[in-house]
Amino acid sequence: MIPIFNSTRQYEQIGKEVEKEVIDVLRSGQYILGKHNKALEEELAQFIGVKHAVCLNSGTDALHLALRALDIGAGDEVISTAFTFVATTETIEMVGAKPVFVDINPDTFNIDAAKIENAITPKTKAIIPVHLYGQPAEMDKILDIAKRHNLFVIEDACQAIGALYNGKMVGSFGDIGCFSFYPTKNLGAMGDGGLLTTNSENIKNRVLALRNHGGAVRYHHDEVGVNSRLDEVQAAILRIKYKHINEWNKLRRQHAYKYNELFAKCSDIITPQEIDNSYCVYHQYTVKIPNRDEIFEKMHEAGIGTMLYYPIPLHLQKVNEYLGQGKGSLPETERCTEVVMSLPMFPELTDEEIKTVAETLIECVENSKALA
Ligand SMILES: *Cc1c(COP(=O)(O)O)cnc(C)c1O
Repeated sequence: MIPIFNSTRQYEQIGKEVEKEVIDVLRSGQYILGKHNKALEEELAQFIGVKHAVCLNSGTDALHLALRALDIGAGDEVISTAFTFVATTETIEMVGAKPVFVDINPDTFNIDAAKIENAITPKTKAIIPVHLYGQPAEMDKILDIAKRHNLFVIEDACQAIGALYNGKMVGSFGDIGCFSFYPTKNLGAMGDGGLLTTNSENIKNRVLALRNHGGAVRYHHDEVGVNSRLDEVQAAILRIKYKHINEWNKLRRQHAYKYNELFAKCSDIITPQEIDNSYCVYHQYTVKIPNRDEIFEKMHEAGIGTMLYYPIPLHLQKVNEYLGQGKGSLPETERCTEVVMSLPMFPELTDEEIKTVAETLIECVENSKALA
């Protein structure tokens, strides 16, 4: 059995240090917004290359409070993709704005920058590119469009901490960057967590207030906020794990290239393509294959954990029926949801396992073709 993700192997590596730090926090009595929160914010701001980072409860909250901090709400439109996790556009709807879906580039799975301008209307306020699977979106083109149309850019970097585009970290390009520390993410907590990055002092101050019930001063509330603080225990754990992020991302890349090599002999398996001048961090290693549903089942029968990210595009989800955007409106997105399959990917994966996964997939694809 080879799982798509495994967290216990990593725990073997860092568990002792984590247990010591967690006990220290427990004994300190400082459980909310303590020294680890502050230190983590400083460390990650420096790592990502921004002036400010604010720890939050989740990546979803980072997106939500990003929109709130930019005063995006009812009557506004926000451009993003339908080939992403639901939180990307759910948060647009949470603030009362309307998501406008632009099709993806099927080679990169990210928003097709060439199609953004067609979707801009007088109501458009922002673009949310997603760095899906750890691959940067085409930020130069997106920033250029945003500048010409006076739009905000919020990067959904939840799957891409440590990824680079033109030598700069994702999450440092837009007005705001949003990160998730969900346990399976490249930098995962042992519970929920998130981070918002920005170079703007105003945005930082607004988010600091919003995460704590809309007031910078205790018991003085200027607007409706939320409770979205990061637990001090999680901040302490994340500081330990953060020291390994570059090494872990490097291992993910090595695994991806090993997969690529093994799949080179099977032209029916389309391996992920990287865009120029990027450093992809392979949150997922996602291939495109024919007869995907049948092969997905066969892989599970063979004891290999694979997943479909994502099986239904967001414009065709029940929650978005009200938008009235039917099937056929985003052809590349829709086609990708039918052919993608993500394979086991985590830093502690062994060469032996990668080989087994690749050989099994090749066999499944060839068998399915022979039967066709
Ligand atoms: C994980 C994820 C989120 C949400 O993050 P949570 O911490 O789970 O709330 C948002 N967008 C994308 C692309 C994600 O992968």
